[in-house]
Amino acid sequence: MKYKRILLKLSGESLMGEMQYGIDNERVKQYAEDIKAVHDKGLEIAIVIGGGNIFRGLSAEKSGMDRAQADYMGMLATVINSMALQDALEKVGLKTRLLSAIKMEQICEPFVRRRAIRHLEKGRVVIFGAGTGNPYFTTDSAAALRAIEISADAVLKGTRVDGIYTADPEKDPAAVKYSEISFKEVYAKGLNVMDMTAFTLCEENKVPIIVFDMNKNGNFMKIANGEEIGTLVQG
Ligand code: UDP
Repeated sequence: MKYKRILLKLSGESLMGEMQYGIDNERVKQYAEDIKAVHDKGLEIAIVIGGGNIFRGLSAEKSGMDRAQADYMGMLATVINSMALQDALEKVGLKTRLLSAIKMEQICEPFVRRRAIRHLEKGRVVIFGAGTGNPYFTTDSAAALRAIEISADAVLKGTRVDGIYTADPEKDPAAVKYSEISFKEVYAKGLNVMDMTAFTLCEENKVPIIVFDMNKNGNFMKIANGEEIGTLVQG
């Protein structure tokens, strides 16, 4: 394995599969199998999941809700997704712990950094729920923050696109994929990798980001093995 400990970021939308809303259990099962395969090779895995398949604070604000109230609802959505993934991971035989940035003692542990690290050392897959616990942030920022806190070797951003392109590949057929790019080039070219707060956190703390397509079976293993199938942001 190229890495010892990684932070895997999955968007809420990725859990929808082909659906328009909610959680596709088949997709979650596929992720759980991919995560198990990599974990079996000895990699320590922490996960942050978004909530966009259920609720997004910003969209709710546009339709008139108070932003902070809506953001807390978004954070609760991430806990629902985290619980779905936790269940699937346990079904494939992994030991897991869900740590939430908002206290919900009946269903998960509160986030305590040292405890998270201890769980990882003991071979448990750690899921960080409820984002950063603060409104006006995103789960990308939560992923960057937690990755730094647990000294992860990289943030692996699993999306439905297989890397960072010169333009949006879904709109521009001439778009070309970068296999590697620096943080500075991403700024200079105005490319969209993660939100700026998350991106800057990674840059300042020298945590590389790898963007890859998590929806293809086996891709997570390839990335964990150091194969250049996605886009690596570093330097
Ligand atoms: N959120 C928040 N603070 C955080 C993380 C998330 O307020 O630290 C809220 C925010 O409203 C966001 C929602 O939770 O819209 C879902 O998270 P996100 O949009 O990052 O999910 P993704 O796009 O990855 O599915």
